[in-house]
Amino acid sequence: MRRVSVFGSTGSIGVNTLDLLSRDAAAYEIVALTGGRNIKLLAQQARAFGAKVAVTCFPDRLSDLKEALAGTETEAAAGPEAIAEAATRPADWIMSAIVGTDGLIPSLAAAAQGSTLALANKESLVCAGSLLMDTAKRAGATILPVDSEHSAVFQALVGEEMSAVERVIITASGGAFRDWPIEKLISATPEQAAQHPNWSMGMRITIDSASMFNKALEVIEVKEYFGVTPDQIEVLVHPESLIHAMVGFRDGALMAHLGAPDMRHAIGYALHHPNRAELPVARLDLAKVSQLNFTAPDPARFPALALAGDVMEIGGLAGAAFNAAKDHALDAFIARKIAFTDMAKVVAEVLNQLSRENSLTKTAITLDLVREMDIFARNVSEAVILKTAF
Ligand code: NAD
Ligand code: MG
Repeated sequence: MRRVSVFGSTGSIGVNTLDLLSRDAAAYEIVALTGGRNIKLLAQQARAFGAKVAVTCFPDRLSDLKEALAGTETEAAAGPEAIAEAATRPADWIMSAIVGTDGLIPSLAAAAQGSTLALANKESLVCAGSLLMDTAKRAGATILPVDSEHSAVFQALVGEEMSAVERVIITASGGAFRDWPIEKLISATPEQAAQHPNWSMGMRITIDSASMFNKALEVIEVKEYFGVTPDQIEVLVHPESLIHAMVGFRDGALMAHLGAPDMRHAIGYALHHPNRAELPVARLDLAKVSQLNFTAPDPARFPALALAGDVMEIGGLAGAAFNAAKDHALDAFIARKIAFTDMAKVVAEVLNQLSRENSLTKTAITLDLVREMDIFARNVSEAVILKTAF
């Protein structure tokens, strides 16, 4: 029996992960499942899988969770500390799929166990890439990327030497507004931004797809995870979302990874690695698809991509600052305090201010430094929003 924990089990990635686990439930022993306000779903999952512990991140929901788990052997717990503790419980395969910087602590704890960490939480690599990779290395943990582009790159690299890699190309659908006239973007609403043309995902990541902040995070993830240089990473707009990534080798070959836009592929690959198992994803009929389209991303439409370049150049805590400023600007957009197009302006200004103050350059990243920067950059972001007339 393989011991499995799923952090963020009630989210989009979490639900897809449990869907795959349920198809061969006898093979897995579920150690920990965690969620947020959706106690009903968390308790349902814990009951269905006989989880050892179920944790909600909200301490005020503990009694509800206990009640929902009455009569089961599942232990109920609540709060960030309980989530961190659950991540130290021995498991062979751990899915890190909490959204946001709060996913970082369970990612680090899981890596420190030396087991296999299936990494969906992007913020872990963006904010603390070197810390996470070093922790995993020291503990002998395997990190398998679950972001679809990174899983695609990983798969294209099987059997290859990194020294033969010339470039890594990740694709972007272009998000909800790829066909909008650029002047209309200023009036885009959160509801419109939350409609993804191809993928079905959580709301925040869907809006980040429309702004390309998601792709900006992914570019940084590529650098941190695969150890390539920023000038080796390219983004290509590919509206069909069937090629997820390509790796270019020094002999000119391009290895592309194609598949239906279904996260269960990347999750399933990480679950069964190094083997491949049958997965319930649609098979592509390329004759039916008939055409694949590509365009270079327009920097005026997608300013977030250039910001990722700045972050990689600055290094240190720039990823943590970028992510926090982006998150805060996203909150402000969702709350209708700023326009869709203001998000990139806010983030650019935060990065400018912090690099002028020399706050970002740090040689060794620690969890404390990342947490401090997370709070600091959110405050700077708020100040920028309050004092700037966009
Ligand atoms: P989601 O919003 O659907 O789910 C998030 C999960 O995290 C839920 O279980 C929620 O209860 C939990 N959670 C939220 N805030 C929390 C907190 N402060 N502390 C502890 N738990 C908390 O998100 P998602 O779309 O499943 O994405 C999860 C992560 O995976 C994100 O980092 C996202 O960027 C990444 N990712 C998602 C997809 C996708 O297709 N959805 C693809 C690639 C990467
Ligand atoms: Mg992705």
